[in-house]
Amino acid sequence: MGKLAILGGEKTISEVKDELFHWPIVTDEDIVAVTNVLKKGNMSGTDITKEFEKEYAAWNGTEYALGTCNGTAAITAAIWACGVGAGDEVICQSLTYWASCASALTFGATVNFADVDPETLCLDPNDIEHRIGPRTKAIIVVNYAGMPADLDAIVKIAHRHGVKVIEDNSHAQGSMYKGRMCGSIGDIAGASLMAGKAFAIGEAGMITTNNRDLFERCVAFGHYERTGAPSRFNPVDQQITMGDLLPFKGMPMGAVKHRMNQTCAAMGKVQLKHYPERIAEIDKAMNYFADQLDKIPCLKVIRPVKESGLTKGGWYFPLCHYDKTKAYGLAAEKFAEAVNAEGVMACGNGANSPLHLHNYFHSADIFNMGKPTVIAFGQRDVRQGAGTLPVTESAAGNIIHIPWFKRFDRDSIDKYVDAFRKVAGAAKELQCHRVG
Ligand SMILES: *Cc1c(COP(=O)(O)O)cnc(C)c1O
Repeated sequence: MGKLAILGGEKTISEVKDELFHWPIVTDEDIVAVTNVLKKGNMSGTDITKEFEKEYAAWNGTEYALGTCNGTAAITAAIWACGVGAGDEVICQSLTYWASCASALTFGATVNFADVDPETLCLDPNDIEHRIGPRTKAIIVVNYAGMPADLDAIVKIAHRHGVKVIEDNSHAQGSMYKGRMCGSIGDIAGASLMAGKAFAIGEAGMITTNNRDLFERCVAFGHYERTGAPSRFNPVDQQITMGDLLPFKGMPMGAVKHRMNQTCAAMGKVQLKHYPERIAEIDKAMNYFADQLDKIPCLKVIRPVKESGLTKGGWYFPLCHYDKTKAYGLAAEKFAEAVNAEGVMACGNGANSPLHLHNYFHSADIFNMGKPTVIAFGQRDVRQGAGTLPVTESAAGNIIHIPWFKRFDRDSIDKYVDAFRKVAGAAKELQCHRVG
């Protein structure tokens, strides 16, 4: 295999083909759709967004979909819709992006962080029930890095306690869970559709649900012009009943504006049309890549077991278990560094930084009350320090992220596999070199 590039040898990959990774795939169809919105000055309307919502809901297998300006807004509205208020608690995995749960604090609630399953890195159903208290209102489940969480088990526990399930589906558009699509299984879901995600249309988000009340509450929270008030944009929404929120029509209950920019909605309609075919190619490429990587003793790609009825959709943020005991103790960080030196570039150790250790969830005083917001409204003090969520905290040492191929190109993928194999094969040498 030759000398490692990090030790002065030749790189395995001399030229990176941009088309292997380029995303999203934008064609003239997207460009025409977006420029039509611009030419008409229709960026702030809702007619195209409503078409997109309808198509997205049909594809995702839900009754309702509601477009938002980003994924953070979608999840924030969903949290409010589930009745989370001052003094309440939500449960969420700590190994995730902050927007999965941080806005709970803006309602005066706190987050009781749970650990993840070591195989899937999704919320561990065995670490939920003991955290549920009288004020727990919602469990936020992230289909993390495209892996469907153990949703049936989690929904069962939640509903036994009268607690709602919110899916954060920002990583898993198109992921299947036992024949159903992620984002349609909890009581409600929020997803990011920002440019870096698998379903990538700019700064945008989507709420999906089968629950009319939750849908209406999300409308009431951030879509003032769709709350039943007569509007030149929204004749259809005048049918929304809004229950006891109707007296507030014309005002958003969250005092926020969550409307999606219609350039995004127009692109979203085009992207949705091609999405199943494009993620099928990603799935093929990534499964091929994973099949090869899995033959390297220290590596095991995180993906559903074959025939499980689960899929990883667009494979956003592909992750891989790294077992340093099978690589002469070489640290994940050093392994990734050596792989990158071979020309891979997209490797790194760990996943998201654990949220339960972040100061925001310990001491931030966002209401200027002279005390940490997480305990300022009479919540139980559920703050947790280092050592409390061992699987989450160990991710930096035993998880690596790997290249995310958008195209199936066997020869090119083989080269990337060679790079990983070369570094794994030289782990002993590299470890000695480091120590020496
Ligand atoms: C990206 C992301 C979000 C937030 O979405 P934005 O569109 O960036 O606001 C929420 N949750 C997770 C898990 C994400 O990765």
